[in-house]
Amino acid sequence: DTQAYAQQFPKLPPTATDAQGHLVYTQFIDGGFTGADGARLATSDPVTGRQWASIARGTAQDVDKAVQAAHRAFTRGAWPAMNASQRGALLRRIGDLVTEHAEWLAHVEQRDNGKLSAELSMQMRYMANYYYYYGGLADKMEGTVIPTDKPGVFNYTVYEPLGVVACITPWNSPLPLASMKIAPALAAGNTVVLKPSEFTSASLLELMKLFQLAGVPDGVVNVVTGLGAEVGAALVDHPLVQRIAFTGGPEAGQRINEQAASRMKRVTLELGGKSPNIVFDDADFEQALKGAVAGIFAASGQTCVAGSRLLLQDGIHDRFLERLVEIAGNARFGHPADPQTQVAPISTAPQLDKIESYVQVALADGARLVAGGKRAHVPECPDGLFFQPTIFADVDNRMRIAQEEVFGPILSVIRFQDEDEAVAIANDVDFGLAAGVWTTSMPRALRMAGKVRAGTVWVNNYRSTSVTSPFGGFKMSGVGRECGIAGMREYMEIKSVWLSMETDIPNPFVRR
Ligand code: NAD
Repeated sequence: DTQAYAQQFPKLPPTATDAQGHLVYTQFIDGGFTGADGARLATSDPVTGRQWASIARGTAQDVDKAVQAAHRAFTRGAWPAMNASQRGALLRRIGDLVTEHAEWLAHVEQRDNGKLSAELSMQMRYMANYYYYYGGLADKMEGTVIPTDKPGVFNYTVYEPLGVVACITPWNSPLPLASMKIAPALAAGNTVVLKPSEFTSASLLELMKLFQLAGVPDGVVNVVTGLGAEVGAALVDHPLVQRIAFTGGPEAGQRINEQAASRMKRVTLELGGKSPNIVFDDADFEQALKGAVAGIFAASGQTCVAGSRLLLQDGIHDRFLERLVEIAGNARFGHPADPQTQVAPISTAPQLDKIESYVQVALADGARLVAGGKRAHVPECPDGLFFQPTIFADVDNRMRIAQEEVFGPILSVIRFQDEDEAVAIANDVDFGLAAGVWTTSMPRALRMAGKVRAGTVWVNNYRSTSVTSPFGGFKMSGVGRECGIAGMREYMEIKSVWLSMETDIPNPFVRR
């Protein structure tokens, strides 16, 4: 039980409960937890299907309060008085607190979205690195002296923060996706208002307790919970917001981009994918098999980089498919906290409905169902939102199941003959987030890495990511990059300063 488990982390202030014992989460604005009395939204556990907490259903007024607080914090007081090294030290203190509370954050994140403990404990421990890395980078963003072609002047550049940054995040990896935005935003000297997914807001509010403990000044980071159409849209529209960092679906991303354009707000958009995982005849069979399984079925397919199109070369197609079907059929369902469990529930009820509907879409288009295809009943979690690992063979790349993101455990298997055909199929989608290539030929690996249109290409591995490496999409998969130094620059403006080295300034309008 969450309340009892919380007692193992004595530094954390407790969260209130209501008469039914549900945790009552509030907004986090201007350094304090406020607003428990307005309208509320239930937060349910995908393992039991039952409510375990509630969050505040924020309004445009809450958004305004939070943005005003962030704007005040940006323009005066403790935050602008801190230098970049001091901001770095603060971020490293957050990193230490995240490390210390990693198991707690994993527990709350699991209640929110049902992800496997095996995946979550790794993710939560790794998350501290966002704060350490960007804490380290804070005082290393050097400007340059420009060797200009104009006489008598000295020209240099500096990086400056943008102001109030709005971050909007989805439900599949709430805390890592928030941290990869908050950490560089703060390192660069901005202030933040964050709107988490209405399905998974609790873990971020727990993280805010750690921010308080670390001594983040009031108003520097704020959280407003609620619905996308209410809180998210108001945040994007607010005139004091300078920059929007969004991770989520393509439809919301497009709408946000259009809204942001009216005031020239800077955006990064990390959107969906339909990533090809391409296996050549000469691949290491067993490694490629593991890569194909992890590519699509990790987190029950609810990852933006899911290798949802498996391109198999003709020579290994049948043997590979046969083994995949066997593995999918033997997957162990169970409680996500059980280390033996391989298949965790789908995070939300609407997502489960969407996944199920795509089985009909694929069948109607003529794809051949060879594994799964149904909701799964799991005796130890009878009300859990489980779906079977599902595989379609004989998929044509023009079918909807090969073109549209499902965000669930559905794999489309597509046959190809040669390298050129693999490239053509891989690139024939609107998305371009990631791709996998499995081959023992290094020249082929290099050719493929060059020809596939995606922000990330993995050769003989799948899913490697790091805070040190830029991540983002080509085409409809997004705009801009997160992580690495490229990710930090997205939170800064570059300013060019000109100093005259002459005492008598030449003026073209005054005749001497
Ligand atoms: P979503 O787009 O429905 O919601 C994402 C967030 O945006 C939520 O907080 C939501 O409330 C908010 N939102 C919705 N409409 C909005 C609007 N009009 N204005 C402002 N905010 C709005 O996405 P989701 O269902 O929560 O997440 C799944 C999607 O996220 C998938 O498409 C997946 O590919 C994508 N995703 C991308 C990455 C990446 O890095 N590229 C990572 C994870 C998830």
